[in-house]
Amino acid sequence: MPVAPLDLLDLDSLLTDEERDVRALCRRVADDRVRPYVADWYENGATPVRDLALEFGKLGLLGMHLTGYGCAGATAVSYGLACMELEAADSGVRSLVSVQGSLAMYAIWRFGSAEQKQRWLPGMAAGELLGCFGLTEPDHGSDPATMSTRARRDGTDWVLTGGKMWITNAPLADVAVIWARADEGVIGFAVPTDTPGFSAREIKHKMSLRASSTGEITLDEVRLPESARLPSAAGLKAPLSCLTEARFGIVWGALGAARDCLATAIDYARSREQFGRPIAGFQLTQAKLADMALELQKGFLLALHLGRLRDSAGTLRPEQVSVGKLNNVREAIKIARQCRTILGGNGISGEYPIMRHAANLESVLTYEGTSEIHQLVIGQKLTDLSAFG
Ligand SMILES: Cc1cc2nc3c(=O)[nH]c(=O)nc-3n(C[C@H](O)[C@H](O)[C@H](O)COP(=O)(O)OP(=O)(O)OC[C@H]3O[C@@H](n4cnc5c(N)ncnc54)[C@H](O)[C@@H]3O)c2cc1C
Repeated sequence: MPVAPLDLLDLDSLLTDEERDVRALCRRVADDRVRPYVADWYENGATPVRDLALEFGKLGLLGMHLTGYGCAGATAVSYGLACMELEAADSGVRSLVSVQGSLAMYAIWRFGSAEQKQRWLPGMAAGELLGCFGLTEPDHGSDPATMSTRARRDGTDWVLTGGKMWITNAPLADVAVIWARADEGVIGFAVPTDTPGFSAREIKHKMSLRASSTGEITLDEVRLPESARLPSAAGLKAPLSCLTEARFGIVWGALGAARDCLATAIDYARSREQFGRPIAGFQLTQAKLADMALELQKGFLLALHLGRLRDSAGTLRPEQVSVGKLNNVREAIKIARQCRTILGGNGISGEYPIMRHAANLESVLTYEGTSEIHQLVIGQKLTDLSAFG
């Protein structure tokens, strides 16, 4: 019997029983509720996001690493394993969980008032309310410090004007965490999406992350009471700390997509015959498989190291998460592309998951900080010189 790539080094022995249980639960839900349907969702650009959110909520997967308000209070490693299993099914489905838990819920949990937390978090943890996180704008992506969206005071109210681009779940969300520039710097709001002046349209024609809803938000004189402002969020470091949370999930998630590609390629290569024998028996194929298995295992060890650091120190430094995101997404996309070659013509077919994973990973490479931005974060730490501007 062939050995699964992640079993080569007995990496399971590094996990606790509880972590293995969480992984088994998430693998089951991904296998039962996502895998059989996701190729159609992807092809048609129509995913039952609300139904999935309710199911994930029942299982405690939304905001699972947060405490209180119906959140599961799981360890960072358990959360990472959940991301890995969900992304083994599809990056878009993992994105739903990441955006809900690590971006929208985390922002409210970390920076919100007691009233905001009570109003939004229990429903979001249950999957009854959906959240989104609006930082990126049409003209300001990698450099959010230059954002154009404005928050101006009008009496005791705030008025938001501007727009946000590429916002996951925006067309479906009940609450949007919106970041805007005010006289005092960047501040955040929990905006009920039925507030007059708020609108979100679905971005069509995506060739990647098609099993996820992505929107463009318009803020046309959106009037909000002071109680909608996130009181503890001061400056750009607030949204950036949310990104650090979400990037941690991606460090693990990308490995799930890569693992699924590699498992698919190994299965295929063992049964596909050319020149009178299985293509898995050719040395060139085995060299590819061995190299990919190495990267998968190294990526897992890196993710696990970051998870253990996070669980012991309570936090990770941004550059530590950058190391994980840069490496694991870059290697995952290389694995997806290499696996695709092993399937030959079938590699481009939606009958197999590889092309879908490869296309999804293009988004994962770009969102939550592009590879170049993570190189700059790491480079700055290594040299004490900023090369951003
Ligand atoms: C499917 C999807 C979902 C998303 N979901 C969300 C979401 O929920 N919320 C949200 O706020 N955003 C979201 N985003 C936006 C995402 O975070 C941005 O696309 C990303 O930050 C890059 O910004 P940009 O697209 O404007 O590219 P740009 O910033 O214009 O970058 C273009 C290229 O220039 C490079 N570049 C930029 N600056 C430098 C520099 N100083 N040095 C070297 N190279 C540089 C970049 O690395 C990149 O290769 C999503 C994006 C996608 C595709």
